[in-house]
Parts: sequence; C-alpha cells; structure tokens
Amino acid sequence: MDNMGRLRVLELYSGIGGMHYALKESSVPSEVVAAVDVNTTANEIYKHNFPSTPLLPKTIEGMTLHDFDKLNFDMILMSPPCQPFTRIGLQGDVADPRTKSFLYILDLLPRLSERPRFILLENVKGFETSAARDALLKTLRECDYIFQEYLISPTSLGIPNSRLRYFLIAKRPPGSFAFPTSAEILEGLPMSESLDSLAVPHDHPTPSESEREKTGAIIFKLETEQELEKKRNQDKQETVQRLQDFLQKEEDIDQYLLPPKTLLRYALLMDIVQPSSRRSVCFTKGYGHYVEGTGSVLQCCVDVELESVFKSLELLSEEDKLKQLLQLKLRYFTPREIANLMGFPADFTFPKQISIKQQYRVLGNSLNVHVVSHLIRLMVS
Ligand code: SAH
Repeated sequence: MDNMGRLRVLELYSGIGGMHYALKESSVPSEVVAAVDVNTTANEIYKHNFPSTPLLPKTIEGMTLHDFDKLNFDMILMSPPCQPFTRIGLQGDVADPRTKSFLYILDLLPRLSERPRFILLENVKGFETSAARDALLKTLRECDYIFQEYLISPTSLGIPNSRLRYFLIAKRPPGSFAFPTSAEILEGLPMSESLDSLAVPHDHPTPSESEREKTGAIIFKLETEQELEKKRNQDKQETVQRLQDFLQKEEDIDQYLLPPKTLLRYALLMDIVQPSSRRSVCFTKGYGHYVEGTGSVLQCCVDVELESVFKSLELLSEEDKLKQLLQLKLRYFTPREIANLMGFPADFTFPKQISIKQQYRVLGNSLNVHVVSHLIRLMVS
C-alpha cells in the first residue's frame, strides 16, 4: 500500500485499460503503479485516457524479477492473450508462444520478494479446461492463495450483451474472502439474479469467410427453431435493459450502414437485433470487417418486418433482393455503442488518429468493465 492507504495495482496486458476502468468503478482506494502492454495502438489509447499512469510499452517476459519487485504492488489485474484457448485459435494452450509470458508470470510469482495480496485474471471460456489453468492453480496453491473461479456473462448484470468469460479472483492470507469458496467454477455473479442460462454461446462456428468469398454464393444461416426460441425468450427478460439505452443519438450513422455487397452475401448469416431488443452477441475483434459470429447488427428501420423481408428473398433477382434488404437499414454498432455495452464510461475516448477498424479491434480484445468491477469488490471485501 502507498502512504495514503491505497492499494498499489499492477495491470498486465493492459490493452485499452478495461481493468483500470473496472478498478475505478469499484471505488477501492487504489492506484495503478504500472500498466504493461506491447501493442502500440492499444498503448496510444491507454495513454490518451490515463496520461498520468506509468505505461511500460514492452513485453512482460522482458521484465526482470527485480523490475517487478521494484514496483512493490499489492494486486495484479491481468487478461493474458486468449487466442491459445479459443476454438478458432486452434487451442495451442501452453505450447502456444502467446502463452509464454503468462507462464513467465507464474514462474516469477513464488520468487517475488513480496507476493501481492490480490490477483484477478480474465480469459475466454475454454481457459478453464486448459493446462495453463492447471499451472495457474498449482502456483496459487503453492503460494498459499485462496481463490474462486467463475464463468460470467454481462447478461447476468442485466446488460443486453453476451460475453461469457472465465474469471479467477485470488487472495493471500491474512484473512479470507467474505464468502465461502467452492472448488466448482461458479456461473454468474453471486447474489445477483442469474440470467446466464439465457446467454447466447459466444463461440459461433466460423468456417472461413474468405474461403466462401470465392464461391460468390449467398450464404444461408441454418438457424434452428431452438435458437430462435432462445432469442425470443431473451427479448422477454425485463430484468435486462433494452439496447436503445446504449445507442448513440447524434452520430453520423450512415457510415455504419452495411454496404450492398455485404448485405447480399451475408444477410442470412447475421445476427440482427432491434433497438428494443434485450440481447446482442459478443463483439469480437473482427467486427465491422467480418460479419459472421463477430457481433450483432442493428435494424434501424423497424417498420419493416424482418420475417417478411427474409421469407421471399431466395426467389428474387439480385436487384430486388438488395431493395428488400436496404429497407431494413441494417448498420453496425458504432465503437462508442460497443464501449457503452462493455461498460466503458463516457469519458473514455479514442485519439483522433485511431481508425474505426482499430477501435473495433481493441474493443473486441477488451472486457466488460461492470463485471470486473463487481469481482474486484468481491475480492477485496
Ligand atoms: N484487458 C485488456 C485487453 C487484453 S488483450 C483491455 O481491456 O483492453 C491482451 C493484451 O495483451 C493485448 O493488448 C496484447 O497486446 C497484450 N500482450 C500479449 N502478449 C504480451 C506480452 N508478451 N507482453 C505484454 N503484452 C502482451
């Protein structure tokens, strides 16, 4: 702790600072003593929003034990690269070079001159079955931490966005958590009405879009009745907010409209939501670029019924198809709207030179601020 009684926090894999915002929101008296990331775009954004936080633009493996010891931190907040643990990332797990820095942290932890009291880790669903997770738990046990694992989606906080993620909170004695720990991975946040059973699975099967680009054919989504029913049920959940609360009003929206080519080819694959919907699928880093499985698109014109447009589509000429689809005024969510859904505060902004595509990419790598903020409070209380 510093001389004002604030926790000294080390933010590893800091990206655009989702963890930092969660820490602020948690109201836990604290200070980020260092943030570490190698990505230059993410670092520009981090610096823009947290100009007074020391940001180390280097690899974690490039830091020595002595470097870490000097920081004298009480808490680690970290979201290691998740690609080694996702299905589309081929599940390289501990053999993936992107896991190296995480294993390095596990190797350092027991050797620190003083181990931090708190550790919070975020990763994708899939991490819980990895060898990296086994290594993490082994290290935590050896270092006398108590810990709890979770799988949580923002939907469990009433946010209309699915983003099912693995979380671990750990604490070192003296003292334990304010709740009894369980060896099970808990689903949803404790003491909140869990709506997680309604979450749309985030890992859509994604056969290569560029592959199909070559065939030129329209692609049809094989949505089962069951999937449709699930979506309808989500929209009836009144404990979940409507998307309209997260949308921008005065933005120049036209630039976000789906281009004709995308409409014609991918219309049937897209997850389409309306402002009144109480759901959206997880926004990933390819959003705005690839269509399938990267996030929902918004139907701006709700006077036209979705079903009626789609029913007859197959039989129409290209020209008429396009005419029909254009009526819906389908558009991408803006980066600001995605930031809203992910819990970033209004004062979070992007520097001017960061392109829309880069904004989508870094947001897709980030996390839900509200979920992490709850977990930080739970860990510290
Ligand atoms: N929580 C962050 C995002 C984490 S994504 C946010 O809110 O934005 C993982 C991040 O780890 C990426 O920004 C990536 O640049 C960074 N990273 C990956 N390997 C790294 C390494 N070896 N050293 C430092 N940073 C690394």
